[in-house]
Amino acid sequence: MIHANNYGKAMFEALKIVLEIQELDIKMIRLMRLKMQRKNELSQIEALKTDLKEQHRLKSEEIQTLQTQADTYEKKIEDLKTQYKKLESQQAAIKKVEEFNALTREMTQVERERINIEQQTSNILDTKNSEEDILEKIKQNLKESETSSINLEKEIHASIGKINEEGLVLKIKRDTLTPKADQETLKIYERLLRNKKDRVVVPIENRTCSGCHIALTIQHENQVSKGENIVFCEHCSRIHYTQENEPASDDSKTTKRRRRRAASTS
Ligand SMILES: [Zn+2]
Repeated sequence: MIHANNYGKAMFEALKIVLEIQELDIKMIRLMRLKMQRKNELSQIEALKTDLKEQHRLKSEEIQTLQTQADTYEKKIEDLKTQYKKLESQQAAIKKVEEFNALTREMTQVERERINIEQQTSNILDTKNSEEDILEKIKQNLKESETSSINLEKEIHASIGKINEEGLVLKIKRDTLTPKADQETLKIYERLLRNKKDRVVVPIENRTCSGCHIALTIQHENQVSKGENIVFCEHCSRIHYTQENEPASDDSKTTKRRRRRAASTS
């Protein structure tokens, strides 16, 4: 029994460095997630600005098209006016009633067309005016979003810088630990971590895997306690260790010592 327990401790010693590495890796995973989030926020701000710029471009194009159309119509109106004057002067020289009446009809036709086009031009210019109002709003939005995002972007860049610094500290700590770890165990651990992106060396608590929370058999628990080799959770493939093998932390040692002292004085 004592023999087995010693083995358990030995296995736990082998896992101890890996556990320390694991805590650093978990912190690193969280940092990288945070960094990803912040980068996404930056892309969202950028996307919003790009969207507003695109709206601005399309609206300007629309207004330009309306203006071109209005210009074409204005020219046509001028042409119709010239045509009307020409018909008018022709009419002055006409003696025959039928010809005179024919010219009158033609002039009425020209006049009608001019009024029609003038109406269309006026509609186009109305549309153009309201489109210009919209363009003005887009410009304002763009300006506002640019002003308001300056601070936010600055804050995000600063936070990403801080994340990178923290990440570097974690990496340096990790690099000092990895040579001390059992390389075989470390490899297995790293492969599991890549798959799970979560703690993969976990304690058995109340004969339950604290990774997947599925109850384990007593045989399984015994095997872990023996500590002869790495034991994986048959449900989630995590590596198990038992809390009883875990050396008491300094805090609990002092608590025990205090308790013992209290017991002896009473
Ligand atoms: Zn499990």
